[in-house]
Amino acid sequence: MSKMKTVTFVARPAGEARADNFRLTESDIPKPAPGQVLVKTRYLSLDPYFIRVMTNVGTYTRPLNPGDAMFGRGIGEIVESNDPAFAKGEFVLGTHDWQEYCALDTTGLTKVEDRGFPLSTYVGAVGQSGFTAWIGLNLIANMKRGETVCVSAATGAVGGVVGQLAKLNGCKVVGIAGGPEKCALAVSKLGFDHCVDHRGKDLAGALRAAAPQGIDIYFENVGAEVLDAVLANMNDNGRIPICGLIAHYENSAPLVIRNFNALMDHSLRLQAFGVHRHEADRARAIAELSDLAASGKLLCSETVTRGIENAPEALIAMLRGKNIGKSVVQVA
Ligand code: NDP
Repeated sequence: MSKMKTVTFVARPAGEARADNFRLTESDIPKPAPGQVLVKTRYLSLDPYFIRVMTNVGTYTRPLNPGDAMFGRGIGEIVESNDPAFAKGEFVLGTHDWQEYCALDTTGLTKVEDRGFPLSTYVGAVGQSGFTAWIGLNLIANMKRGETVCVSAATGAVGGVVGQLAKLNGCKVVGIAGGPEKCALAVSKLGFDHCVDHRGKDLAGALRAAAPQGIDIYFENVGAEVLDAVLANMNDNGRIPICGLIAHYENSAPLVIRNFNALMDHSLRLQAFGVHRHEADRARAIAELSDLAASGKLLCSETVTRGIENAPEALIAMLRGKNIGKSVVQVA
């Protein structure tokens, strides 16, 4: 076989992202240059920041232009090697174009080992998503035992790990998620104390009922009305690590925050962070997450879509909240 499928980005979204911003194309399998390996793509990670890359705003990745192959984190198997330090048959994590095979510089690759959990976990709970949760809780929020932690997008890739790490650290955890099924799952499967539905009426009141003692840490993944409702429930000296603002990524409409005074009234600290600024801590965080996953203490839920041709639809589904846990595409 010498041909492969590629998902090519063809048009910047006007408003919300759509599957037809991409097209399936066919091209020759690339040849690895000296210092490169040919990797057969197994899993592609689907991430909310893609919308920023597609619209070319606020992103720290290389630019994406119409006509380029879409790209993101991926995991694959080395099928040909031009670097003696990387052997055929090894699995590596790197930045993949959305295609069945990639010729990749080995300098940008990390080898992954078999620790008994699915390979795809290395782009989720034991990859960027788990690392993000770990940084936000430990380095940005300075989580302490006994505190009340609230997290939005609670059953998503990052949120699900946030809640579990906070529980393992002896905190009370209140999730915020979209719909009763997700809320039930956060409690029954992920072990949260409560989870409230952001689509229900009076989110601020529902949070007050779930956490009458108030919230010490709000791990922000969403923004907009959800942030406003949580502000009304924060305790003195509360911390709000701003991990993501997914409700804003495709919506530039003006926003009213009614409870902004809470910042002054309770001496709150909001701090946005990007994990790419915390590379020095990656190894110890991933080692800790990997041990937790291997011992079964960290549940690594996933929504897996099969077939590279279905990647655009799967990305849109994740942006619309159809996923539980990490969204990945199984390519092979
Ligand atoms: P998720 O797996 O959480 O999937 C996205 C979820 O966001 C959906 O399932 C949905 O959950 C929720 N959502 C989407 N739109 C809205 C909306 N308008 N209002 C409320 N909720 C919405 O994605 P990730 O875990 O990968 O990412 C979570 C956040 O973390 C994102 O904001 C992302 O940008 C950020 N992030 C930041 C990083 C950093 O370095 N700072 C690194 C990685 C991720 P529901 O149905 O529950 O509403």
